[in-house]
This record gives sequence, structure tokens and C-alpha cells, in this order.
Amino acid sequence: MLTARPIPNEKLSSPDFDAAGLEVWVKRLDLVHPEIPGNKFFKLKYNLQKAVEFGHKQILTFGGAYSNHIHATAQAAQSLGMNSIGMIRGELTPPLNPTLQSASDAGMKLIYLDRSTYRQKTDPDFLAKLRKEIGQFYLIPEGGTNERAIQGTQEILSQEDNKFTHLACAIGTGGTFAGIATGKSDNQELIGISSLKGAFIMEDVKNLILHTASALPPRIHIDTDFHFGGYAKTTPELIDFIWDFYTRFGIPLDPIYTGKMAFAIFKKIKSGYFPAGSKILLIHTGGLQGNQGFTERTQIKLPPSA
Ligand SMILES: *Cc1c(COP(=O)(O)O)cnc(C)c1O
Repeated sequence: MLTARPIPNEKLSSPDFDAAGLEVWVKRLDLVHPEIPGNKFFKLKYNLQKAVEFGHKQILTFGGAYSNHIHATAQAAQSLGMNSIGMIRGELTPPLNPTLQSASDAGMKLIYLDRSTYRQKTDPDFLAKLRKEIGQFYLIPEGGTNERAIQGTQEILSQEDNKFTHLACAIGTGGTFAGIATGKSDNQELIGISSLKGAFIMEDVKNLILHTASALPPRIHIDTDFHFGGYAKTTPELIDFIWDFYTRFGIPLDPIYTGKMAFAIFKKIKSGYFPAGSKILLIHTGGLQGNQGFTERTQIKLPPSA
């Protein structure tokens, strides 16, 4: 069983927020576990519990070369004494980037798939063939979202978070949003900021929620206007924002998820979206392990991780 550290909520102090009558806080999921930070801790928790219960010796999952999910799965499997296999999209390009190096150091076996093979990641025949080749494994899908993951992300909010009127989180597959949506109280508004281009995510998230709940909870919104060109795309404005945020509040963000989420919420604050008296909780889903690889890839410097 993975054990969580206490997760601090940190208040952001700013004369602007005071003047608007707002409180803005950050929930530091990035500090939940030294090796398995962020929302991935919650997404993996019950998956690994089930894998152990069912007597599995190895975990297999899929992801990109900079994936927070790959990184976290390798660490989590190692901490429970299980083998892990990472099916990585794309060719091997030595030397390993920091994400894959740390996964490999944690004992993950990396297998590289060309893009068309990778697309078979959910194909039962492909998975059956893999089982024949490498033996039984517990499968965690790309991005880690399944029923067990949502069960875990329903535990992100604690009792004390009931005081917040608004909650905000980044969206990739939507598993984290779905868990928070079904774990929050009805009078809290949840805003999800999609890191991917496109409106398909609305339907995906609806299906995820209706898989675990009988109806959509009230006051949930998804904003698809802050992808900054698409998944893993950035702009100088976003990078400046991440540095400014770090300088003012001492909290590092990542450019793929949390930076876009915080940018969007700050923009909404400026535009008067939140009425005076609002207490806003930004959920820091982690992702900082990817910053070093991002900098190596793009030469764009980012704040150091906590
Ligand atoms: C994976 C990830 C997300 C997206 O989570 P989903 O459950 O796939 O929506 C958000 N933030 C960070 C930092 C992540 O690593």
C-alpha cells in the first residue's frame, strides 16, 4: 500500500486578491510522496492494491517519453517490490531523458513502440500477444485512468477543503477531474482546464463520471481555451507566467498541466469571474519531474522543483 504524506494547502498572498475580496490557495499534491508525486499517487494507489491482491508480479503500462505516469508507475511498482514494464511511444534515442532514466533506474523495463504499434495499446489481441511473450501482468492504461484511478482521486479533497467555494485542476485524460467532481460537495464549483486541444474531452469526462456516479454532479465546468496550442505546447507568455508565479509565491509549476491551469484561473480572477468572498483552491497535480526533460528538449529554463 502506498502511504501519503500530509498535503499542505498554501495561501497565496497578494494585494490584488485582497482588493478583490478573494482567497487563493494551492493544494500541494506535488508533495504527497517523495517518489510518486502529484495526482499520479492517487491514480495508482488502488490499482497497485488490486495488482498485489490478485498476486501479480508485474505491472505494464503505456506512455510518452516524458510521461509523469511512466515515471510514477516505475517508482510505485519498485516501492511495492513489483516488476514494471513501460511501453514507450516512439524510438529509443540515447541517451535516455531524465524521465526514462529515472524509470529505468527504478527497475522499469522499457519497450519502444513505433507509433502505429503504439496505437494498439487497448487492442485485446495485441495485449494477449504481449501476455504470451512476457507473461501475466496487471495492465494500467495510458495516463493511468480507470475505475480504480477515479476511486483514488476521489480522496484528493479532505474535510477541511469544504470551506472552498471554487476548485480548479488541470485535465489530461480527465480521471483526476472525475474523481474530484464526484468527491466534492454540491455547492463547490469545479473548474477543469484542459491541456489538450479540442472539445472531445467534455464527452470523455462525462462518460468517466457516469461510470462511477448515477448523475453528473452540479457545478462542474471544463474550459478548453487554455491549451496554448495543444498538448505539451507552450508560449513565451505561459513560461513568463510560470516564472512570475514562482517568484511571487515560491511554488514551481510545470508547463504541461499546472502552469496552464494556474494561468487560466489567474486570468479568470482578473476578468472578475469570481465574486468577492470566493475561496479558490488550485490543485497542484505535480508534474515537476518533467521540467528537466522539457528544458533539455527546448532550452527553455523552468523553476527548480520543490
Ligand atoms: C497526468 C497529469 C494530469 C492529468 O491528469 P488526468 O487524470 O489524466 O486528467 C494533470 N496534471 C499533472 C501534473 C499530471 O501529471
